[in-house]
Amino acid sequence: MARVVLTGGAGFLGSHMCDHLLARGDEVVCVDNLVTGRASNIAHLEDNDRFEFINQNVSDGLAVDGPVDSVMHLASPASPIDFAKIPIEILRVGSYGTHNVLELALEKGAVCHVNSTSEVYGDPVEHPQPESYWGNVNPIGPRSVYDEAKRFAEAITMAYHRVHDLDVRIVRTFNTYGPRMRPDDGRVVSNFIVQALRGENLTIYGDGSQTRSFCYVDDQIEGQIALLDSSYVGPVNIGNPHEFTMLELAEVVMEATNASCELVFQPLPHDDPTQRRPDLTIANRELGWEPAVQLKEGVVKTAAHFAAELGL
Ligand code: UDP
Repeated sequence: MARVVLTGGAGFLGSHMCDHLLARGDEVVCVDNLVTGRASNIAHLEDNDRFEFINQNVSDGLAVDGPVDSVMHLASPASPIDFAKIPIEILRVGSYGTHNVLELALEKGAVCHVNSTSEVYGDPVEHPQPESYWGNVNPIGPRSVYDEAKRFAEAITMAYHRVHDLDVRIVRTFNTYGPRMRPDDGRVVSNFIVQALRGENLTIYGDGSQTRSFCYVDDQIEGQIALLDSSYVGPVNIGNPHEFTMLELAEVVMEATNASCELVFQPLPHDDPTQRRPDLTIANRELGWEPAVQLKEGVVKTAAHFAAELGL
């Protein structure tokens, strides 16, 4: 049994991480300021005596009493709509926030697991993306607040490893979806499912030929826990290698929800990556992990969650 400090534990990914860690017997100290996380995501854990919630912005500081085995940094707004609304907060949690979790890990002699993102590859010219690819990021565009914050987070994490010999993990998370996403998150999977359930038009940005590779949340969390438990230092892609255009995703969502919707075409956001697919060679080799959930199966489960939450 380990004691884990988990930032962003009330968020979409973080709350699933809480569930999985508690299920295997770990103790979880969940730190979240609820800027994009939701109290409802962790309400079911309130009575668990191995779970503690601290309402705190990790960018402002992180103090935890007692022994700690692992510090996991999942806190960050991650949706393109957040990039426009709270850009400074995103830069702060990737920089000050990451510095604070590294300092706590150092003080406690703990492993530090930092969530990075496929966005470090920007609009990739190498495809699929291996961890060795340095990326193609616009450093001053609207997405840069997230991309560069995560690139900084990776850099400072590796610096703590080199300077202090801190035991670190870096996960590069590729587009992940599932229950507890915010219905108004603005991400393509949540948008399409909510639109299909409401019988509305599906909003395709651009011509819908851009691609993403969607990973179901349970697969993502299992991959991340395998990384945490490994001794692999250096970034590891965790995602699903099956790549879809947004037009193909729209078809899958309509099939999964039994909906027949019109497609409406809207402008492509600035710097929207044209393609994205993880190279999973390192995850397969070092962690013996690969994702199991097919897109349609995951969309059916996610749609059931949204239908219940929104009363549709
Ligand atoms: N997208 C879309 N319709 C929507 C929302 C998003 O076509 O209603 C597109 C978006 O332009 C991008 C892709 O879907 O090309 C994935 O967007 P998302 O925000 O989910 O993830 P990210 O761009 O961060 O990978």
